[in-house]
Amino acid sequence: MSQIQIGLLLLLLTLLGVVGYNVYLSETTPNEISYTDFMEQLQKGEIKAVHLKGGAVKGEDCRKQAFSSFIPDVPATLTILREKSVLITAEKDTENIGGFLKSMVPVFLILGGYLIFSRTQKKGGSGLGKNKYSSFVPSKNTKVSFEDVAGISEARSELIEIVESLKNPEKFSSLGGYIPKGVLLQGPPGTGKTLLAKAIAGEASVPFFSIGGSDFVEMFVGVGASRVRELFTEAKKNAPAIIFIDEIDAIGGKRSGGNATGSNDEREQTLNALLVEMDGFNSDQTVIIIAATNRPDILDPALLRPGRFDRQVTISLPDAKGRRKILEVHAKKILMAPGVDLSEVARSIPGFSGAEIANLVNEAALIGARHNKTAVELSDFEEAKDKISLGLERKNVVINETVRRVTAYHEAGHAITAKLLPETDPVHKITIMPRGRALGLTQQLPLDDRYTYSREYLINRIKILMGGRVAEDIVFGHQTTGASNDILTATDIANRLVCEFGMSKTIGPVAYIQEQGGFLGGSPTTRPYSEKTAENIDKEIKRIIEECYNETLVLLTENNKFLHKLAEALLVNETVDGEEMDIVHYCYMNEKSIEKKLMKHQKEERAQQNQRISGLPRSFYKEETKCEHEKE
Ligand code: ADP
Ligand code: ZN
Repeated sequence: MSQIQIGLLLLLLTLLGVVGYNVYLSETTPNEISYTDFMEQLQKGEIKAVHLKGGAVKGEDCRKQAFSSFIPDVPATLTILREKSVLITAEKDTENIGGFLKSMVPVFLILGGYLIFSRTQKKGGSGLGKNKYSSFVPSKNTKVSFEDVAGISEARSELIEIVESLKNPEKFSSLGGYIPKGVLLQGPPGTGKTLLAKAIAGEASVPFFSIGGSDFVEMFVGVGASRVRELFTEAKKNAPAIIFIDEIDAIGGKRSGGNATGSNDEREQTLNALLVEMDGFNSDQTVIIIAATNRPDILDPALLRPGRFDRQVTISLPDAKGRRKILEVHAKKILMAPGVDLSEVARSIPGFSGAEIANLVNEAALIGARHNKTAVELSDFEEAKDKISLGLERKNVVINETVRRVTAYHEAGHAITAKLLPETDPVHKITIMPRGRALGLTQQLPLDDRYTYSREYLINRIKILMGGRVAEDIVFGHQTTGASNDILTATDIANRLVCEFGMSKTIGPVAYIQEQGGFLGGSPTTRPYSEKTAENIDKEIKRIIEECYNETLVLLTENNKFLHKLAEALLVNETVDGEEMDIVHYCYMNEKSIEKKLMKHQKEERAQQNQRISGLPRSFYKEETKCEHEKE
């Protein structure tokens, strides 16, 4: 039964309880009479004794019959009661609250019962997995290690530092530095964030406390905040320890301050409690809080401040190499037939997350078993892949092969232009893994912070931007919209080159822009100028871009083997970093020099041949040439 169903059932039981109990209460109260009847009996002197509690009155008449009623005007009635010498007793008016409390008895009973029920269930370790209302029991000695998490090389050094600080905190604080308190793991679902947090605990052999962000919020009002405090107290008692909060965005979303509904209030209280706890522990209590999210953009900025989740590790979907490593990790758990090429499997599943790969391996093992095999073969992987991909296709993860090829050449075009031109930033990474709306990305990192840009640098940037479109033109002969953003940026740079930086010879060192935005950003205002100047500026911008395009076309045509090599590498590996690109470049240069030598050799041979031919009669030589031309 799901949590929701249990909740609904409880609600129903509670309502039944309240109604039933109130019926019971009303049946045990004495005969209720109207105020008019009460006054009538009083005037007739039939009432012997009353007991007052606020306006509520209980009493006995002369026939020893118990009754109850309500007096709207107590002081006035009291005078009459005294006149008629009725015996009066009274008590403080708590009847309303008392009555309410009494009617709530079943609610408390049921709630209490449920809490006890869920606690015992957790202790018994039922198969239901995470239980929300349990005490926090850490899992000690998690057996997970970094070995179990594949393809995290980029984050590794940072994570090792965290493990170190858990192992010997003294070493870290001895120089006055503070130990990282919070680490935010951000990345798509299934990329191994939970696994990584467990691995950190495992490597440092410290207890691991885990809770989901949404667990806090689904609890009863006011419970979330106290659960946070309970969690931290428990972790501090077990320090050094790790607290893992999955889906922190459920409590850590931006605080609204205004249109808060009830549940938002609850969420904000919980978030505040978390912030207070994170700020509040001493350096001698090494508790590291690891949080995971796939929506870092919606987090409350307060969470990311120094001393809170100031370490952020991004985990992206694995590339082909990463997928092979993850496959290797999971393939260890099953019986694999010898000779299954996991690289091939890895290449065939672009866009798969770590969790989907784990699922694939498991599925392949099941399929193999169904076919009565003794070991899992490549064909089982194929079948499993098809089965899983069917579900994924809808998620648009698996992109069309043609689009992939065009993207590979497009990105290779950018990267090669950057590599071959002087005065450019080194290529850091090229990828054809789709990210957000972009199909691919070429990333250049400047060697140092630049404050001024040379004309050559800016012109080369335009050429690099043109490189994508040029490569598409050379290889496929048709254009795609993939370059539209490049062209926009290139035009912007050319525009500023002419109008702002005064770098154009024909226009001269005159600024036609008054206010400048950021580099390539903002919307500058223009100084008024004549139609003629406007025309010249337009022409000049067009000329610069066209010249850049043509020069890039020459460059990439001359090096078109490099282009093919790099695009091929991208299609196989999806990501190519700067070093790998250097290797591809090196191979290309090697081949080129061999080719050159070969060509030189052929040239020499031809020259020798010509010498030999030149001995022949002139007419014969001419005819030979003519013949060849006609063939074409
Ligand atoms: P997340 O927390 O990012 O949603 P999980 O850590 O829950 O992802 O991943 C689910 C499962 O997927 C893991 O238990 C593991 O079996 C597998 N997995 C995910 N990423 C990796 C990885 N990098 N290496 C090995 N296994 C992985
Ligand atoms: Zn581009």
